[in-house]
Amino acid sequence: MGTAKLSEYDYDIIIIGGGPAGYTAGLYAARAGLKTLLVEGAATVSQITITDIIENYPGIPDGIGGFELMQLFKNQALKFGLETITKDVSAIVKSDSAPALWVVSAGDKSYRALSIIAATGAQWRKLGVPGETEFAGRGVSYCATCDGPFYRNRDVVVVGGGDSAIQEALFLTHFAKKVTVIHRRDRLRAGGILQKRAFAEKKIEFVWNGTLAEVLGADFVTGVMIKNVQSEKLTDIAAEGVFIFVGRIPHTEIFRGVFNLDTGGYIITDENMKTSAEGIFAAGDCRAKLFRQVVTAAGDGANAAFNAELYIGNMKGEAY
Ligand code: NAP
Repeated sequence: MGTAKLSEYDYDIIIIGGGPAGYTAGLYAARAGLKTLLVEGAATVSQITITDIIENYPGIPDGIGGFELMQLFKNQALKFGLETITKDVSAIVKSDSAPALWVVSAGDKSYRALSIIAATGAQWRKLGVPGETEFAGRGVSYCATCDGPFYRNRDVVVVGGGDSAIQEALFLTHFAKKVTVIHRRDRLRAGGILQKRAFAEKKIEFVWNGTLAEVLGADFVTGVMIKNVQSEKLTDIAAEGVFIFVGRIPHTEIFRGVFNLDTGGYIITDENMKTSAEGIFAAGDCRAKLFRQVVTAAGDGANAAFNAELYIGNMKGEAY
């Protein structure tokens, strides 16, 4: 930074990722008058768009569908001049100009920016057990909102004990005859309210200390084989649907070597969303943190955009 003349660039900020964090960053950046491009992934969708109902986003007391909420985020950001494209980013490199710019490659084009906000989110983790991949779309699902209605009056199992597993298990009771939650420990990780609802729900049964050993079936899923983690005893449970919610993995492979990630692949930032690379900020579920919610992603996005704005101000020599 300093008095050196800036090389030509296309955008003040390029935001990578089109979820709540990305679009909030886009709203703040565009509204601050910064020329901002949001690159939305072509191969992936934000997890929020496949969430049935969000009841804990402040200001929306009756709840709202995830897709609907994202449309509101998007429209608000577009209103202030945010530009968007749908392409997968393949590389991010630092230019050799001084001061350095960031060059983002997406599709067959490259875009030069003063700053980047990484808001690429995370995706569901797979178990890697026999039958999981073979029966994907034929009984194995990672989205109760998408696939729940196919299991009307049928028996399904849910694997996992976190908020996602329990929330989705509750959602599945709207359709399924019985929902068996299989959890590898003897207590849930999910928060108190969800636990209380699940324990009170007659359609939900629990298998404790159990892991999924195999998904069984012929053309479609017919059941699962469960292994008790203590006795190692194997038991089959009949089910036509297997919903797996065992956490997430962050979409951060493209950032490896550009800035620091933690051992789980999440982006390490300071409290101002700064990564270890100068001029790159991160926001939302891809960031190393404890609590991943729409509201925290949105908060991260605003924070990242504000700090990127300060950084750009300094770069342009406009800071006071
Ligand atoms: P999570 O909190 O990481 O829970 C993952 C669950 O899967 C845990 O119960 C874990 O067991 C289990 N698990 C992980 N690997 C496994 C394996 N290989 N085999 C069997 N079980 C395995 O993930 P999440 O539920 O997706 O939630 C992620 C974040 O989103 C959390 O911060 C959560 O609070 C938030 N969230 C909030 C809401 C809400 O507030 N309504 C809804 C959804 C998600 P252990 O418990 O033994 O580790």
